[in-house]
This record gives sequence, structure tokens and C-alpha cells, in this order.
Amino acid sequence: MKILCIGRNYVDHIKELNNQMPGEPVIFSKPDSALLLKNKPFFIPDFAKDFHHEVEVVIKINRLGKNIAPEFAHRYYSEIALGIDFTARDLQSKLKEKGLPWEKAKAFDGSAVLSEFVSKDKYEDVQNIDFHLDVNKETRQKGNTSLMIYSIDDIIAIVSQYFTLKIGDLIYTGTPAGVGPIKINDRMQGYLGDKMMFDFLVK
Ligand code: ZN
Repeated sequence: MKILCIGRNYVDHIKELNNQMPGEPVIFSKPDSALLLKNKPFFIPDFAKDFHHEVEVVIKINRLGKNIAPEFAHRYYSEIALGIDFTARDLQSKLKEKGLPWEKAKAFDGSAVLSEFVSKDKYEDVQNIDFHLDVNKETRQKGNTSLMIYSIDDIIAIVSQYFTLKIGDLIYTGTPAGVGPIKINDRMQGYLGDKMMFDFLVK
């Protein structure tokens, strides 16, 4: 199983980090050891100072595919979840400056929070789902999947040009604006529509 992530997929988030608009989506990956499931606490690692939350809609691939055409991409996933792409922002900035890969800042243990999955059939339109992240009961990030630069189907098509998609692979589809630092004892609650998807503590 692999975890692929899309960076810079919401305009408002690109602006807040002063990044360039991508001509193609930014793609990176995390190992399966990054997964943090079942509302387990996130323990802040000590190799960096500034860890940020990035709430993201996650899809799970349900069939094998390569070079998938966008018009068939919807057949390759049937369930969606909500996750957090935890990022060591200070370390990422250093790596970016030097033109180095991001893994140390993005792919560490616990950096891929994942909720339970729900059938996408529950939603009238997967490209029009509200989602948000509350930290200590205060909404920090708010998005709607209609605001993605690359739709889920586009993402599946583009990613599958490079990586064969297999059953169980996960794709984190990018974060909207409002990313910010976390601290010990923060309570993280994520919602897809009005359904609470995860609820865990930072330790
Ligand atoms: Zn992200």
C-alpha cells in the first residue's frame, strides 16, 4: 500500500504560503508507517519546532490501474475519508531552500492521520463537499472540494501516469487555507460535511 499526496491544490492555501501556482500538481508520498489511525494521539516529534496541520480529503483506490483516463477515474475509488497531512513546516522550508526532497518534513511516523472511510455514494457530488478542521473547538481550516484546482478524477489520471495504482492505495488531495501550528494538548476534530470523522489529541 502506498500513500500519495497532492500539494498546492487549493488557491487560497497557495497564497498563504506564497507558493507558485503549479503547472502540474505537486506529488509526494508517505510510507505506510506514517499512518495514524483510530483517533490515536499524535506525539509531536522532537526533530523540528513548527508542526502544522493540513486537513485533507482522502480517497482509497479500489482497483488496479495505470494511465487512467479522467473520464474513467471515478471507477477507481468508492470511498472517501478525512485526514491530516502533518508537516514539519520549519524543516520543510529548510529542505525547500536547498532543493532537497521533503520526506523528513512530510513522511515521518504519524504524519498521515486517517479517519474511517465512508461511501462516496453518500454524497450527491464528491466535488462539492464541505469539510473543516476544528482545533480546541475552534474552526481553523474550512474547505469545499469544489475549490480544488485538480479534481479527484484529474488527480487519479495524472498520478497514474507515474505510479500504478493498486487496491488500498491512498491519495491525500491537498489542503485548503488555514494551516497552522499545533501544540501539546490540542484537540483535533475533523468534519466531512457535518459528520465528525476524527477526534484526537496532540501529545
Ligand atoms: Zn498536504
